Amino acid sequence: MSDLIKLLPESVANQIAAGEVVQRPASVVKELLENAVDAGATKITLIIKDAGRMLVQVIDNGKGMSDTDARMSFERHATSKITTADDLFQIHTLGFRGEALASIAAVAQVEMKTRQTDEELGTKINIEGSKFISQEACTCDAGTSIAVKNLFFNIPVRRNFLKSNTQELKHIVEEFTKVALINPGIHFVLYNNDAKLYDLLPESFKQRIVNLVNKSYKEKLIAIESETEQIKISGFVCKPEFAKKSKTSEQYFFVNNRFVRHQYLRHAVESTYQELLPAEMYPMFFIKIDIVPSEVDVNIHPTKTEVNFQDSRTLYAILKAAIRKAFGMFSMRVPSMDFDVNPDFEALDLSGSRPVVSPAINTDPNYNPFEGMRGEKKTTTDEWKELYNGINREYDKRQEEVTLPLPEYENMSELNIGKSGFNLSEHFLQYKNKYIISTIDKGIIIIDQERAHERVLYEECLDKLDSGIAVSQIDMFPETITFSYDECIIINDNKETFEKFGFKLEKLGQSNYVISAHPASIATDEVKNFFMTLLSNLKDENERLLGNINRTIAKVSARKRCIKRGTVLHEDEMRAIATGLFGCKISDNDTSGNPTYAIIDMDAVSNFL
Ligand code: ADP
Ligand code: MG
Repeated sequence: MSDLIKLLPESVANQIAAGEVVQRPASVVKELLENAVDAGATKITLIIKDAGRMLVQVIDNGKGMSDTDARMSFERHATSKITTADDLFQIHTLGFRGEALASIAAVAQVEMKTRQTDEELGTKINIEGSKFISQEACTCDAGTSIAVKNLFFNIPVRRNFLKSNTQELKHIVEEFTKVALINPGIHFVLYNNDAKLYDLLPESFKQRIVNLVNKSYKEKLIAIESETEQIKISGFVCKPEFAKKSKTSEQYFFVNNRFVRHQYLRHAVESTYQELLPAEMYPMFFIKIDIVPSEVDVNIHPTKTEVNFQDSRTLYAILKAAIRKAFGMFSMRVPSMDFDVNPDFEALDLSGSRPVVSPAINTDPNYNPFEGMRGEKKTTTDEWKELYNGINREYDKRQEEVTLPLPEYENMSELNIGKSGFNLSEHFLQYKNKYIISTIDKGIIIIDQERAHERVLYEECLDKLDSGIAVSQIDMFPETITFSYDECIIINDNKETFEKFGFKLEKLGQSNYVISAHPASIATDEVKNFFMTLLSNLKDENERLLGNINRTIAKVSARKRCIKRGTVLHEDEMRAIATGLFGCKISDNDTSGNPTYAIIDMDAVSNFL
């Protein structure tokens, strides 16, 4: 019997490899753009014809290639980026597998022109379906131009699999966006069928996001920043109120200047928003993670869009902390100042340049203004109605204001009320039993009583839980409650935390518990209902798994206990809510991300009167 095994010809091997690397025109775009970035280009032009079917061309002004390298670059496993296996742990470039050009040349007609700066002549190479056609000297600009024509010309099946032009172009723009976003220092130009779609001059990361992704993001993003010895996190996340319910948000992680997907880290970001917002929210974000190359493995995927981290748990925690810190900063506002124009925050005198006003009211921590003060109808303030209706909510305007990064998050508490720069008046009115109205230096402030009180209770409760002080009340006639299997697991896993909060649970048999004591802040007849709500929240939110149960408890507790809309308030109560709100770490939103207050700017009013 004759032997059956034979080595595949190089061209077939290349075609098979191409199946992994080149799925569609957008894959060619990605590989060519990455090569141009690796070559140190400062200007990169991408030219697309017929959604990339006819032509994908990338022209760069990078370092170019010698005649031999130009020829070599189309060989499989030809790379200038690593030489030993050890180099795999120290990769600073986007490419290193040496597969892209070989794969592309296997499934298209490729023309490359390249010249190194110090050479007079360049070289021109033509390859079709891995078949070398010609190489000759040529005059050309310094740098490299690679034109990929008639993609899949030799694999009609693959060609037929391509989607509509609109779809393919969408993929192309996505790839272009990923590379252009993370390289804002490079001038990028994109032509589609001779029409210039983008011309992005070198700029800051934030400007690049705004110019490339969405102009309106200028007002929607807050900066995040965190640095340890091993990891640096920077970039932008959206303000909580701009997170979306739909999954279409722009979400970008860049690890060592490479776009990557990462489910676990995405969860870190989204769950941080869930601390503020109720439902599944999809915030947009543009987060850069710079990490020593040996801590990350990018080699697990042929197009390298997935990575593994050595210590993803720590990274998860650092990322969450960075975002929380940014949210805290977000309530630090100063009147309009352009983030990009004036990056020199060091020059700002935090203590002197802004009105930092301490509260005019001394609060007694034991005083509960809400006790025994219900039912009395207060002054209605219809006079306010017209004023309020006639003027746009300050809330929209506030978005033009900027984040003022503080050197240390810990400084927040010192600045407290002053952080908003508001000088709250001593007088408060209630409107429609919903809003608390008062004045501040720049105008009239309208506070949503329910949202504000919820925020205050949330932060109070969280502080107590974090510091482990809870006042418990013994139940004289404890009820036995039967729980489901997964509820029992939650109870069992979190018994200590429940106790810290004031719940004492005693197990009776398989699935029965007695609540023998409960937090003093909850009325006895509310206990069961409260506990059940808490459990169902914990079941929904997998925060439990991440040690964030305190937040869930605080959220449920604040939600249940807060003064609702429709409740008539005394001036003392209103004052306590208002001052409480502006003493919070985050005063702008309730725990669901809704705004807690609006301001009618007196400057705006003077336009009317
Ligand atoms: P990799 O990027 O993984 O090394 P490629 O097949 O993409 O593999 O490229 C092979 C080699 O060709 C690169 O290592 C580089 O030396 C060279 N090369 C490719 N594109 C360019 C370019 N635009 N400018 C300069 N050199 C390039
Ligand atoms: Mg490459």
